[in-house]
Amino acid sequence: MTKRDLICVSCPIGCAITVELDDNNEVISVTGNTCPRGDKYARQECTHPERMLTSTVKVEGAKLPVVPVKSASPIPKEMLFDCMEEINKVSLTAPVRIGDKVIENILGTGVDIVATNNAL
Ligand code: SF4
Repeated sequence: MTKRDLICVSCPIGCAITVELDDNNEVISVTGNTCPRGDKYARQECTHPERMLTSTVKVEGAKLPVVPVKSASPIPKEMLFDCMEEINKVSLTAPVRIGDKVIENILGTGVDIVATNNAL
């Protein structure tokens, strides 16, 4: 059995959570959370951690050379590096507008990469 100590990031309170895992990485218990969101966060973080991805993409013909982008929803943590490499291959042409899809379904994750600002 292993124990993991986490800080819940689901709200600003930041409860200290302890998760007990068996040898197969299955959750045995979650303690320290003060609401169900903490339980859900802790279980996900220990079994299938995900992160939002933010980066920038090159833009030709705009005032600034890059536009900021982010994943529309969290991406499995183990795929972040590969997704960053995919994003680095992209070059856009102005105009790019906030909310434009830059990459659809990046690497089959089901998650789109979208622009978070205009590049005009
Ligand atoms: S467990 Fe609930 S109250 Fe505590 S930080 Fe997470 S969301 Fe907030």
